[in-house]
Amino acid sequence: MPITLPTYQAVVDASKRLEGVANVTPVLTSRTLDNDIGAQVFFKCENYQRTGSFKFRGAYNSLAKFTDAQRQGGVVAFSSGNHAQGIALAASLLKIPAIIVMPTDAPAAKVAATKGYGAEVIFYDRYTQDREAIGQALAAERGMTLIPSYDHPDVLAGQGTAAKELFDSVGPLDALFVGLGGGGMLSGTTLSTRALSPDCTLIGVEPQAGNDGQQSFNSGVIVHIDTPDTLADGAQTQHLGQYTFPIILNGVNRIVTVTDEELVWAMKFFAERMKMVVEPTGCLGLAAVRKYKAELQGQRVGVMITGGNIDIEKLGTLLQS
Ligand SMILES: *Cc1c(COP(=O)(O)O)cnc(C)c1O
Repeated sequence: MPITLPTYQAVVDASKRLEGVANVTPVLTSRTLDNDIGAQVFFKCENYQRTGSFKFRGAYNSLAKFTDAQRQGGVVAFSSGNHAQGIALAASLLKIPAIIVMPTDAPAAKVAATKGYGAEVIFYDRYTQDREAIGQALAAERGMTLIPSYDHPDVLAGQGTAAKELFDSVGPLDALFVGLGGGGMLSGTTLSTRALSPDCTLIGVEPQAGNDGQQSFNSGVIVHIDTPDTLADGAQTQHLGQYTFPIILNGVNRIVTVTDEELVWAMKFFAERMKMVVEPTGCLGLAAVRKYKAELQGQRVGVMITGGNIDIEKLGTLLQS
């Protein structure tokens, strides 16, 4: 069955649902950075979103659209990361039961945060059990609805509200850099960018070790890779989705990559100069701005800071490295 891709109207509708629920996150700047780069850089700080990442936007938008029967059945999600926390908080605000399926080796802090938002956590062994089968069983037995972390029209429309806020607050931009995993954020951002700043050069940024999005964008077909080894754990996805890919292919200008070393430089910059905690995946945009600064001279440049969730010990280790 052919799918129907969402349009910018879905982002507008999502932003109405999120009004008074999601934080309108700040847009911050740094004169030090602007002087160093030779451009005017605007950071959209989703590390200050509820649950510490933009994932709350798509999660809440999806659950707010549930029918009564879906609300009763509840929601199931697979994630050990930011999507789990976004779904858990959105479900608790909407009084929808939630089950999060996590690998047995998920970090204790993430398990605790997810439970803290009121979700039930079910563990699976990622080496011996098939999480798809677990999800399908839960959906069938308990009548639950599965909400994926990126490949869903309501999820990507919710993510697109962050860029809408950015353009509403600073006006059109010459370039916008957005971290890329499965493409929920980048495809939603594409819808907002093409509507609100049509001439903006939109650039997706992936970890170099996991450039399936770049390969897919350049070849025109979805490329699958093994789980990449990178510090950017929010972008360890193996492929783009059937909703996210066509929107990205049609509306993004370019996909670039950065190394883990370049991510660590950006983490240090955020901590030292802007007094912000940004997780490695949240650093993709700034790392690429620094790498491609020669092409950005005199421009107005947006950077999506996608999240700030990192173990405090790991943060310490990386800042000292
Ligand atoms: C999920 C996530 C991403 C990647 O988002 P996609 O929608 O999968 O492309 C980037 N940064 C952070 C912090 C995330 O949690």
